[in-house]
Amino acid sequence: MSRNALVINYEYCSGCHTCEVACQVEHDLPEGQFGIKIHQDGPRQLENGKWEYNYIPVPTSLCDLCADRVAEGRLPKCVHHCQAGIMFYGTVEEMAEVMDEKPNSAMFTPKV
Ligand code: SF4
Ligand code: SF4
Repeated sequence: MSRNALVINYEYCSGCHTCEVACQVEHDLPEGQFGIKIHQDGPRQLENGKWEYNYIPVPTSLCDLCADRVAEGRLPKCVHHCQAGIMFYGTVEEMAEVMDEKPNSAMFTPKV
C-alpha cells in the first residue's frame, strides 16, 4: 500500500502562518503547541542593500497528516488553507514528482 506525504515548496513561502493556525484549529491544540511550525531564516542584508527573509514551515511530531480529514476525502487543513498554494498532498510517488518539478521543496511523512 502506498504511503501518503506532504510536500512544501519553500521557494514561495510568505511566512503568513496560516498553515500553523489552521492546524492548531483543526486539532484543537493549546497555545504553544504546533502541528507545523514556521521557522525564520534572516533577516540578512544582501550586497545590494536589500534585506532577505526566508520562511521554513516544518511539520512537528504532532502532525498526523490530518488522518481524519483525508479519510473523508478532504485535503489536510494546512494544504487547503495555504494562501500561496505551495503545499501539496498525495502518495509518496506523486509527491516525488512534485519535488522533481520544484527543487526547493521538502517531503514529510507522518511519524506514526
Ligand atoms: S497535515 Fe494536518 S496535522 Fe499535519 S501540519 Fe498540516 S494541518 Fe497539521
Ligand atoms: S500557509 Fe503557506 S505561505 Fe503561509 S506560512 Fe504556511 S506554507 Fe508558508
